[in-house]
Amino acid sequence: MTAPARDWEALDTIPEGYYAVLDPADPGRMSYWRRVITTRQNGLRPWPTKAWYGPAVPRRKDVPTERIDREAFIADWSKKRRAYLDQVVTAIRQSPQAAAVCFARFRIRCWSCGRPLRDETSKALGVGPECRSGMDPAALARYCTPEVTRVHAEHLAALRAAAVTT
Ligand SMILES: [Zn+2]
Repeated sequence: MTAPARDWEALDTIPEGYYAVLDPADPGRMSYWRRVITTRQNGLRPWPTKAWYGPAVPRRKDVPTERIDREAFIADWSKKRRAYLDQVVTAIRQSPQAAAVCFARFRIRCWSCGRPLRDETSKALGVGPECRSGMDPAALARYCTPEVTRVHAEHLAALRAAAVTT
């Protein structure tokens, strides 16, 4: 058996961080990704956490009940999903820096529910009014600020790096 090492080698060239690229399945939309490297995981996750891009997880009623059909169905879906993620990885690899800057500029969705953020306060916190109502300011500072400031710092670093190289 030859393992599909290709995917992981390509992924390994992408540094940890947040990226935005056009959605390969729908170039009229952006897709947002978080590259995660920890001792327990090494992957590319949709951002925000509850978002999903590309081939959707099949609904239960669409999955064949016969075992042999089900296995073929799942194998087919996995193949499509992997091909989609390959396209995303390729898009990010074209310029990880540009994709990171893009993420910082278009970081306009609520990290909790994924809906667009409209006002400046929401954009600064990265969370919409409904999702943050009922959260006390200390909790907001604790949970939102580290994430948002990190993204802003990365944005700044990327801009500086871009200024140096151009
Ligand atoms: Zn929200």
